[in-house]
Amino acid sequence: MVVGPDGALPLPWLAAPLAAVLAQQRGHSLLLHGAQGVGTLPFGLVLAQAWLCESEGEGPARPCGRCGSCHLVQSRLHPDLFVLLPETLRRAHGWLLADDKPEGDDKKKPSRQVRIDEVRAAIDWAHKTSARGRGKVLLIHPAEAMNLQAASALLKTLEEPPAGTRLALGVADPALLLPTVRSRCQRVSLPAPPADEAVRWLEAQGLKDAAVLLAAAGGRPLEALALAESGIDAARWSALPRAVAAGQGAALAGWPVPRAIDAMQKLCHDALAVAVGGPPRYYPAASLPRRADAAALADWSRALARVARHDEHPWNEGLLLEALVTQGRRALTLPS
Ligand SMILES: [Zn+2]
Repeated sequence: MVVGPDGALPLPWLAAPLAAVLAQQRGHSLLLHGAQGVGTLPFGLVLAQAWLCESEGEGPARPCGRCGSCHLVQSRLHPDLFVLLPETLRRAHGWLLADDKPEGDDKKKPSRQVRIDEVRAAIDWAHKTSARGRGKVLLIHPAEAMNLQAASALLKTLEEPPAGTRLALGVADPALLLPTVRSRCQRVSLPAPPADEAVRWLEAQGLKDAAVLLAAAGGRPLEALALAESGIDAARWSALPRAVAAGQGAALAGWPVPRAIDAMQKLCHDALAVAVGGPPRYYPAASLPRRADAAALADWSRALARVARHDEHPWNEGLLLEALVTQGRRALTLPS
């Protein structure tokens, strides 16, 4: 997701924050803060492309999408751009490092962390001379994926990058970063786009009932797209509250466990909101049960949060979801 030869931004809502950053050009190290699904990684890539763009004078806005540098970013071969992602994201987005085998090592799971040896390699790279003479950009995303050692190794470079080198760190939750990392960066906030703009963009991607999925994703368009791509459409989403209230765990069959738990957490949130007379946030109002047991909802909420804290679910996933749906049914049905 970078600017192509037509010069259009991959995500239109990034235009304003991009213009603001390019107009100010402040520190060498930026912290790009955006919720997951808002487009923090595409923003970092477009910003790097703009910094490296070689278009001159009054011509098209940066990044132009057509110069030699822009072409190299598009083909992921720019010698002055280092994109450092955890291996899981490198494989998902195709930004492999020099040592990565294209197929991966079947014996071990791809790492979700940015490791210290990877950060050290990036720092070594940053100290070499710029190949095209426009400076260099090191993009790390998400910065929370750096473990303590990796983040510590980066501190000196963040504070004082080699001449001509800029750093951009994407982050969803700055509170998870070392305070010393935060304090060395200038923060750029990437808000979620206005709903109508996001809906227009999602419709252009071929989504039906985009407004329902956008709400399901908490207003984050790339999350809405990911929901649709995982087979969850507006009809399945809107049917979920009644299915859980009826104890029908089959409604969640085939959902990845983290998505199923997230969907139930959102249902729990909305049921509580409606129970106290507020508007729901994630589900269409008509899809929600009118009344619920507030105490049981609070218990359900705690149980869901406990499970959500664990990334991996070694126990039987089917039984886990069934137990949570059963608890949800009790919470969404008033005792007679
Ligand atoms: Zn260009």
